[in-house]
Amino acid sequence: MLDVAIVGGGLCGLALAHSLRARRVDWTLFEARPRLGGRVLSTPAGHGPGPPLDLGPTWFWPATQPSITRLVADLGLATLPQADDGRVNLLDDPNRAPRALAFDATTGRLAADASTPAQPGALHSGAHRLAGGMAALVDALAARLPADRLQRGRVLQALIDHGEQVELQFLHDGEPQQIRARRVVLALPPRLAAASLRFNPPLPEPLASAMAATPTWMASAAKAAVRCAQPIWRGRPGVGNAWVTHPQAVLAEVFDAGPADATQGAALAGFVALGAAQRPAFRRGLPMLIDSQLAMLFGNELGATEPQLLDWADEPFTCTETDRQEDARSGAHPTYGDPTLQQPLWDGRLWLGGSETARHGGGYLEGALAAAARLRLRLTAAANDGPPVAAAADGDIAAAPAPASPPGAPSGLAPTTLAYPGA
Ligand SMILES: Cc1cc2nc3c(=O)[nH]c(=O)nc-3n(C[C@H](O)[C@H](O)[C@H](O)COP(=O)(O)OP(=O)(O)OC[C@H]3O[C@@H](n4cnc5c(N)ncnc54)[C@H](O)[C@@H]3O)c2cc1C
Repeated sequence: MLDVAIVGGGLCGLALAHSLRARRVDWTLFEARPRLGGRVLSTPAGHGPGPPLDLGPTWFWPATQPSITRLVADLGLATLPQADDGRVNLLDDPNRAPRALAFDATTGRLAADASTPAQPGALHSGAHRLAGGMAALVDALAARLPADRLQRGRVLQALIDHGEQVELQFLHDGEPQQIRARRVVLALPPRLAAASLRFNPPLPEPLASAMAATPTWMASAAKAAVRCAQPIWRGRPGVGNAWVTHPQAVLAEVFDAGPADATQGAALAGFVALGAAQRPAFRRGLPMLIDSQLAMLFGNELGATEPQLLDWADEPFTCTETDRQEDARSGAHPTYGDPTLQQPLWDGRLWLGGSETARHGGGYLEGALAAAARLRLRLTAAANDGPPVAAAADGDIAAAPAPASPPGAPSGLAPTTLAYPGA
């Protein structure tokens, strides 16, 4: 029988596995998809010429997110600042050329005219990227864990509490598989767990409601990225940052997604403006529409290749029906960290994880690490039958003290909150 079963191989599950391993706690991780990373996904370098492209998260914010910043440094991953001269190319009329306007970080709006001076760094709040794409983080973590403990293609369907142990019922290659563990961590979005798993005994009603009410950040978003012949936007006002706000917008927000060294390629990425319900009807035409919108923003000499697209609303191990229904709501960043979600269940045999259970950085990569740090403290305290070890005294990854909240809904994480004159 296993000691700890971690369900979910996203950043939360992987970081938890890493810190349990450092403490010699026995664990095995079960992931539904054939790949690790969850919402972290980059198209690999070598998948077409040019740099890797992030189709999930792109940014972290060193000024306010200590855990992810430290983890990236500990793993020795190369980073680069997001290109940001404080201006945005605003395309608010499909019949007019875009205008480069200064972004005012205090109001979250663009200046009314092009004469207002810009503040470099204001638009992306000091965001950084990983040079190898965000998947480099997942690859680096996975490479430090024993491969036979990372079990992919295991779809958890049900959990049964037997008193001393929990039975996990998986589907693996279409066949049922049962595993027993003393303790189970669900390192996946609480709303997804509530919608897709059966619990016996059923979870108490207030908890089940709290899980269902917790939106999975970006679950219904769609992202597109294109490799380009040259980063012709560099050196021009806006340095690749653009907002498209007219009703026929295809990408709501665009930014430079290429490597710092232009000899290694160039890329742009953006968030699809169409809602989750609209997107299926546009699927065939979307690559062409994206191409023409980018040409309107930056010119025909862009040399953009076929866009890489990912519609997260189609991903059953991320997005639920409720996320799709809420898609049209304001994209403001929700408040996360409902204490109900952090309580031990089944006498400490069952724990909820995932970024959306974290108060600090909830919804972000930072929150996934904060959740992993909390769970590690809980699980090792139980294993030692003693008081939790202070996080600050901890030397390994994902153990940094609770971070400050990231800047309110940084642009790019919430395309529908884009603010512009007249909004
Ligand atoms: C398009 C997009 C852009 C984003 N941009 C940013 C950004 O720039 N910066 C930032 O900080 N954050 C961003 N985020 C959010 C960030 O990706 C998440 O906060 C983070 O990846 C969450 O990690 P997690 O491990 O908590 O959850 P997840 O990554 O969702 O991992 C959960 C894992 O559980 C698995 N799973 C689900 N159901 C089952 C089951 N039944 N059985 C077994 N396994 C299961 C899933 O396959 C998945 O691997 C973005 C997200 C998206 C989608």
